[in-house]
This record gives sequence, structure tokens and C-alpha cells, in this order.
Amino acid sequence: MYRTHTCGELRLENAGESISLSGWVQRSRDLGGMTFVDLRDRYGITQLVFNMEENEGLCKQARKLGREFVIQVHGKVTERSNKNSKMTTGDIEIRVNEMNLLKAAEVPPFTIEEESDGGDELRMKYRFLDLRRAPLRKNLELRHKMAQEIRRYFDSEDFLEIETPFLIKSTPEGARDFVVPSRMNEGQFYALPQSPQTFKQLLMVAGYDKYFQIVKCFRDEDLRADRQPEFTQIDCEMSFVERDDVLDTFEGLAKHLFRNILKVEIEGSFPKMSYDQAIEEYGSDKPDIRFEMKIKDLTSIAKGKDFRVFDDSEYIGAICAEGCVGYSRKELDGLTDFVTRPQIGAKGLIYARYNQDGSFKSSVDKFFGTEDLKAWAEELGAKPGDLILVLAGERTPTLKALSELRLEMGTRLGIRNKDVYKPLWIVDFPLLDWDEETGRFHAMHHPFTSPKIEDLDLFESDPGKVRANAYDLVINGVEIGGGSIRIHDEDLQKLMFKNLGFTDEEARNQFGFLMSAFRYGAPPHGGIAFGFDRWVALFAGLDSIRDVIAFPKNNSGRDVMIDSPSDISSEQLDELKLQKKK
Ligand code: ASP
Repeated sequence: MYRTHTCGELRLENAGESISLSGWVQRSRDLGGMTFVDLRDRYGITQLVFNMEENEGLCKQARKLGREFVIQVHGKVTERSNKNSKMTTGDIEIRVNEMNLLKAAEVPPFTIEEESDGGDELRMKYRFLDLRRAPLRKNLELRHKMAQEIRRYFDSEDFLEIETPFLIKSTPEGARDFVVPSRMNEGQFYALPQSPQTFKQLLMVAGYDKYFQIVKCFRDEDLRADRQPEFTQIDCEMSFVERDDVLDTFEGLAKHLFRNILKVEIEGSFPKMSYDQAIEEYGSDKPDIRFEMKIKDLTSIAKGKDFRVFDDSEYIGAICAEGCVGYSRKELDGLTDFVTRPQIGAKGLIYARYNQDGSFKSSVDKFFGTEDLKAWAEELGAKPGDLILVLAGERTPTLKALSELRLEMGTRLGIRNKDVYKPLWIVDFPLLDWDEETGRFHAMHHPFTSPKIEDLDLFESDPGKVRANAYDLVINGVEIGGGSIRIHDEDLQKLMFKNLGFTDEEARNQFGFLMSAFRYGAPPHGGIAFGFDRWVALFAGLDSIRDVIAFPKNNSGRDVMIDSPSDISSEQLDELKLQKKK
């Protein structure tokens, strides 16, 4: 028997027991007559003691143990004289009387402890070593627990978990497909699913009225901290439902996870906010509503005072940073640098200090007198002691920049508390999004999203104004999921494809199977998909989804551990009848 217990298990009540442990040597300390070894496994760390006086040979052997050697020990659990309250096993230690070296190890390229000295790339290359560290282990444990709770919830609600294929045809989620050449069908390719969207809709036509799956999706797009080329969705679909039936069901899932994983009760229903309101007040369709600091439109009151920057702008918007009147010149310059960074793209930052004595001092005093600035303050609900920050320019990018500035100020003011959770639904998204580059509409969500029935008339006259029966779940400024009520009528689906610039033939080629299925009795249906990685990261209090994925890719989409993507042999290329272009 390799072990009777794990390295996280033994407590004071085990004192006196003879036990066996197996694990990795995290570190050893040699104190002359005694050698201490921290033995680690997935469950924790236990201190081993080797005593020169009791067993010289064994103690000498222990001194030779290197980091990450795998050993087995037999010994007696004893109470420690020097207890360590930070360790769950800190009250005891093991007096070792026998040791077997199971496998020696090379010196690891970085320290494998709570904090590591290894850089990102190095830790990615040796991910199997990094995964031995407690923080990563905890993330994977959390991920596992969440997956189990998700299954438990869906099972209790009569959902069926059904797998859908990976070798499919393009699914239109707006990213590039990863493609796989087919050997048996020369010159033809599968696409990996960007989501199981069309399959889950076909399952509804097939009568499986409640479906879910925790599933890999593949999207070939530029990567960021919260994106990976392959990621995991909690994918769901339901039949005979209207929007609020769907929202209620998945609000139930969210509450179940908050309750069972974080022990947090979210009271009442999640608020619903229209897309238009979110953009107007927060500059973003994923507002962080843990704090107010809403954006206010100053366009009408700030224009026409001979200040060229404002007069030439389509939109002037501001936020009020409470209690920040004392911001120094340097801090304000820092904020200007922040908003003028290319990723944010504002032209400059205008500020007005609302001094404690009720007077104002602004960067545009030449153009705006006390009365003007007072009007701004009133609009923003500002009080003496506050700092008003103003951006101007084209409406959409300026709102976006204000959103970033708002989040930055929220962070600086410490009002984005990681232990506070504020979920909300964003609803009534635009159905279509005009793309300047291609000169046509794109589906803002995907082409199977139903327009709101009351907006159908606008399809002919003003398609850009049609609202979608779509919704996103946002928690603390993170988009956790999105979905919609679907089109289940082939004529409406055809109209949608037409508006997206598909010819009848293109639509038939790509999605004929779905349109044909709709002719055989399609129930009204709708669903949602959640970003599982993001949700785990949010619950773990992390910004990057990489830390909650066992084997993630780096920013260039590479797995530096297995060195992929890589070349394939000319034989494989021949077999696939493929030729590389130089
Ligand atoms: N397939 C959609 C997505 O991946 C989600 C949905 O509409 O259910 O975003």
C-alpha cells in the first residue's frame, strides 16, 4: 500500500498512529541533528522529521532528497512542539522510520510553492509542474465543483445532457472557423464548432425540450486575457418558452451556483436593463453596477460656449468621481495618459474640481464660468469635494472611453469589491450591427436570433432599429452568458438571411438543414450559453481565464508545452491531398 492517508489529512487526533504517506518533496531543511521535509500531494503538505540520533542512515538519506523527489514514508504521527497554525496539518509531524525513494527528480525550473519565481512562459512550458502549486490546484477544484453543481441543477430541472459533434460545418458566431481537412472526402473540410448553436436548435425540433451540455467551443480570433481559441461553454436550450421563462430558469442556475459554491444569497430577481440604457449610462453593454458613477450627457449644456473641442463634438459626456477634488496635477496627467492610450483613444481629458468651499476650478476656465460648471455639477449630482471628468468626441467611441475611465476610477477608489456580486440581465440588443468595412449588416448575436415581434415592421424601413429578443447575463462587468429566443419560422429566417446579405443559395448551402428542419414542426424555442471559464474565473476572483484551464494556450494561440501547432509530415499532407503554399 503506497499510502494510508493523504498529505492533507492527519490531525492531532491521529497522534500515535502508524501511517504511510506518498508525495513530492516540496522542500527540506537540515538542522544538524534533525532533517525536516515538507511532503506535498494534491491534498496538502505534511511535515516529516528524520532524527540523526534515532536513525542515522535514514537521516542521511533524507538529506539527499532533492526538490520534487517522489517518496513514500512510513512513520508515527506525533504532536509538534512548534505548531504551525497556517497549515491544516500544522499540529502534527511524522517521525519517519522507513523511506522509499519512488522517483528522483531533476531540479525544477521554478519553485513549486504557493508563490512561484517562474515567469509566465516558463510556467506554461512546464504546466504539469505549475499545476502542482496550490493556487492552480484550487482553481481546478473550484472548476470541478462548479461543473458538478451545474449538472445537479440541470438534472433537477429535467434537462438532458446531450453531446453534439465537433466535426461539423461552419457555425456563425462571428469568429473565424478552425478547419479540419477530411481524408475520406478529398478537398473538403470540416469546421470545428464555434458553438453547438445549430445542433441545439435541431434537438428542439427533435423534441428534446430541455438540453444542456458543458462543451468545448473553438474560435479562431485574436486572444486576450479572457479569450482562448478553445474554451468551454455551458450550452442550453429550451422549447415552448418566452424570454422570461428562459431568464428565470438560468437565474435559478446562477443563484444555485452562488449559494452552493460561494455561500452567497442573491436576494430578489436580477435587474433587467435595456442595451440602450446600459450604453447611455455606463458606456458599455456589460456594466459593472457594483458602483454608480453613471455617465451623464452634457452635450446640450456644454456646447455653444466657443470652446472648439466641445463645439466640434457630436457628444460630450462626464462622470463624477466622488471625493477626488484633491487629485494632484500628476494624477490628472496620469488619467489623461490613460484615456489617450491608443486602446482607449480619447483626444484629451477635461476636468472640473468642485472645491469644498463651493467654488470651481477647471481645465477650461477660459470658456466656462461658475454658472456653467454649476450646471454640469447639477447634471451629475456632484457635491463639493468631487471631481468632474469630461470627454468629448463622436458618441460611440466617447461613451466607450468614458466606460473605461469609469472602471478605472472605480478601481482607484476601491469600490469594485471582489466579494460583492451584482448580476443583471441586459436585454433588447439591436438585432443587426452595421459594418462600415463590408458595407453590410452583421447579426449582433447570431443569425438565428429572433427580432422582437413588435419591431418586425421596421425590417423593411429601418433594419438597424430592429431590436433582438436577446439577452446577456452580466456579473460585475463580466459578460457571463448570452442567448436569445430563436426564429423558428423558415420565412422569417429567410428574411433575416436576406438582411445579412446572404443570397438564397448561400443561405441554403450553409443552413439548408436547419431551414428544412423548421418545415417539420419546429417548436418556439430559445436558449443561452455561458462562458464556463469566465464564470469560474469570476468566482475565483481572477481576471484571466488561463488560470482556471488546466492546459491553456498562450497569447499567440500556442501550447508551448506540447509545442503546438506544429508542422505535419509530407506523408500526412499527401494523404490529405494538401499542398503547402510557400
Ligand atoms: N450560441 C450562442 C453563443 O455561443 C449562445 C446562444 O445563443 O445560445 O454565443
